[in-house]
Amino acid sequence: MYWNTHLKAQSARATQLYHNLLKIAGKSWGVPLIHRRTLYKTVIAWVLAHGAVAWCLEPTVGITGKLSTIQRPFLLAISGAYRTTSMAALHVILGIPPLHLQLQREARGTALFRLRLPLSTNVSDIDPSEIEEKATGWSTHPSEHLCLTQISLDDGGNINTGLRIYTDGSKTKRGVGAAFCVLTDVNITHRWSTRLSLRNTVFQGEILALLKAVEHAVSLPTQQLTILVDNQASINSAANPKSHNSIARKIFKLLHSHPHIRVSWIKAHAGYIGNEEADRLAKEAAETENFPETPLELPKSFIKTFLRQKMLATWQMAWDDGDTGRLIHNIIPKVSLHLINWTRNEVLFFTGHGPFPSFFHRFNLAETSFCSCGGIGTPIHYATVCLLTTSYHMAPPSQQHQPIWFRRVANNSTSRRKIIICSTFSKEKPVFSVQIPINWFFFVPSIVFSVESNAFVPFPHSWPTFY
Ligand SMILES: [Zn+2]
Repeated sequence: MYWNTHLKAQSARATQLYHNLLKIAGKSWGVPLIHRRTLYKTVIAWVLAHGAVAWCLEPTVGITGKLSTIQRPFLLAISGAYRTTSMAALHVILGIPPLHLQLQREARGTALFRLRLPLSTNVSDIDPSEIEEKATGWSTHPSEHLCLTQISLDDGGNINTGLRIYTDGSKTKRGVGAAFCVLTDVNITHRWSTRLSLRNTVFQGEILALLKAVEHAVSLPTQQLTILVDNQASINSAANPKSHNSIARKIFKLLHSHPHIRVSWIKAHAGYIGNEEADRLAKEAAETENFPETPLELPKSFIKTFLRQKMLATWQMAWDDGDTGRLIHNIIPKVSLHLINWTRNEVLFFTGHGPFPSFFHRFNLAETSFCSCGGIGTPIHYATVCLLTTSYHMAPPSQQHQPIWFRRVANNSTSRRKIIICSTFSKEKPVFSVQIPINWFFFVPSIVFSVESNAFVPFPHSWPTFY
């Protein structure tokens, strides 16, 4: 089995989705770029990811190529770029990773979280049995809940007599710490702290400290006491009988069976002795290398971040080593999952794949690459020296400084505005015309016509005249 049949079916499904996307993309109006991108990321990419764990855990060259073919029309429809634009550049401009990398990340996530299968050893040594499992359902009967007075989210700083337990969790660059201390009136009578692995979150530290504090309170002779926590999220989680966190559920059960224990929020770093002491203990545990450590399951967020970084690293390597889209690589050397906020005209300008004589000539769509003013019609020509766009010129760079010039322009909002104005202006005033062979029409990407033919703002001239 090579999954060819499946990929063929996926591809057919993608075509259907693609046509649907085109329909709502409209011609002169329609869904704007940012929403087209969201639709792709939240709907289409997920449909394509169906069953990825079975066939995309280690995608072969064949699968990678096929997926790239499937993804290409979407990227063009979202960005409105010319069909000849490099895929690698579109990925980076739109902040959408190559499809095979995205599906591989999905597949790895499913393998770890759902199937509890380890990844291949060269990817990671994470043991799936160490990953936190999501608790579901009710931890007690729905009719049973905590007393109203047991949980308080008002500042408990004014509680300064009797028995109190202060908890805190802390994360530094060296580790995570959890601690609590017991105060009887003004004396600290008990201290506890532990260290967690760097892979754990500060929330896990906070909630573990609360659990240990409640367990300690349960072991004391029954008396009215308050646990003061400076983290509202862990209080809310502990008071929620449907919490997904298993530690929070343990706390809920203990609080439910011991109604004399109360939990209150307290403002952090406000000078309360107990809170300051718990904070100090937690920080000390986090900072000390050989402090006794409590093993705790890995949070899902850690794995997600890990998989995302793995994907970004592979993508970055491909972007650095690739040989297409180098103009864009010069401007955006680092890949990310964020959209580069360019209008369509800017995409055409910076990629060089736009209505420029130099572009037409390069792809054999025009006989010469000259602008009607006599210079060579490259994007930089229109932005700096062309006689026909004089009012919107920027200072021209020397030959060896062109890469820096493009970077500066892309990062400068005034320069970018000039490019936009310049292209809008030239719409009303055709700057040049090229003679185009009659068969040119058949080479023109369908996408250019279907997605944005009316919304299309030719830069820096109107559509070439047909002869
Ligand atoms: Zn010119």
